[in-house]
Amino acid sequence: MLDNLDKFKCLKRGPSGAINIDPLQRGGVLTPEAREAILEWADGYSVCDFCTGSLESIDSPPIREFVQDVLPEFLETDQVRITHGAREGIFAAMHALCERGETVVADGNAHYTTLLAAELAGLKVEPVPAGQEPHYRVDPQGYEEAIERARGKGEVVGMAVLTYPDGNYGNLVDPRTVSEICRREGVPLIINGAYSVGRMAVGAKSLGADVIIGSGHKSMASSGPIGVIGTSDELAAMIFRRSQLVPHKELEMLGCTLRGAGILTMMASFPAVVERTKLWDEEVEKARWFAGEMGKLGMDLQGDRPHGHDLMFFKSEILYEISKTAKKGRYFLYRELKKRKIFGIKPGLTRQFKLSSYLLPRDDLKMVLSAFEEIVSHHPKA
Ligand SMILES: *Cc1c(COP(=O)(O)O)cnc(C)c1O
Repeated sequence: MLDNLDKFKCLKRGPSGAINIDPLQRGGVLTPEAREAILEWADGYSVCDFCTGSLESIDSPPIREFVQDVLPEFLETDQVRITHGAREGIFAAMHALCERGETVVADGNAHYTTLLAAELAGLKVEPVPAGQEPHYRVDPQGYEEAIERARGKGEVVGMAVLTYPDGNYGNLVDPRTVSEICRREGVPLIINGAYSVGRMAVGAKSLGADVIIGSGHKSMASSGPIGVIGTSDELAAMIFRRSQLVPHKELEMLGCTLRGAGILTMMASFPAVVERTKLWDEEVEKARWFAGEMGKLGMDLQGDRPHGHDLMFFKSEILYEISKTAKKGRYFLYRELKKRKIFGIKPGLTRQFKLSSYLLPRDDLKMVLSAFEEIVSHHPKA
């Protein structure tokens, strides 16, 4: 193996000019500024040129100002740190704020990484169940019941998590109601904003969160893995506590998180990210229009109606019926879209799939709609 490595030398990505509707990827597309930054700062530990011991005290490049002043204002928190992603932020908060054996209350639509973070931190999870299809709604009052249920079993509830929005349906649960319940019950609330921080104007204060989490590669036009965690001074004292063995290093961050180009891409994209959050309403309107057109073709939007996010989950019996007799079976949809240079729906899916319209021009979305229309009308149904 080690004497035939040439294939690793030239790694090309997909075709250019393609339309990407993968919800994971739409908000992580780099700005031109970030693309330049990545080349400039591509070398390994590039940000450490002038480091005196901690990432957020580096003045050149201006990481100190970004992490200590700019991000706290953006996230409406006292303190912010850079993490490797949303999951690392969730884990750090759980691990720091809860004792092993305690319980985390989480919405039934929570991302799988919330469950992994809890498991790794030695915590149990009490779900706030999501409702039936097609809406899959989580009732904010359910937090009260879940906290009581867990306490009824003799468990100590150490934290609550609200996924805002969730990564499956793009549903937005009223955060203020959840926050009031958590405050009353004395349970700190983390808001997982992997799909909101960097897209929508969200901050810990307005949402009522004690900790807010973001994902740079998901929603902040950054080259990952990178994320943000913001919190109050009070909780920061625990989450960002220092090591006893190496007293100037923050333990939960393992001393230092981002050491290369990723943080530079987040900074270089940030001015554009701030601007785009102001245009969020247009994105929502575009998503609603797109979902309406898909509905006319027989593909039904699941989740909140009216929908409040660009992440859309569709059910489509019609494509499933076609797949029963189509050449390539259930892979036909992927292949048909690929022929038209449209990517982002997972190979093999027909009956239900997710997509995103985020930052796509209406003309591109019209091309996506015509593609679906052609696919539906050109194939016989079983
Ligand atoms: C994508 C996603 C995550 C994971 O984000 P990472 O930054 O990759 O860890 C967590 N939660 C939700 C809701 C997501 O959509």
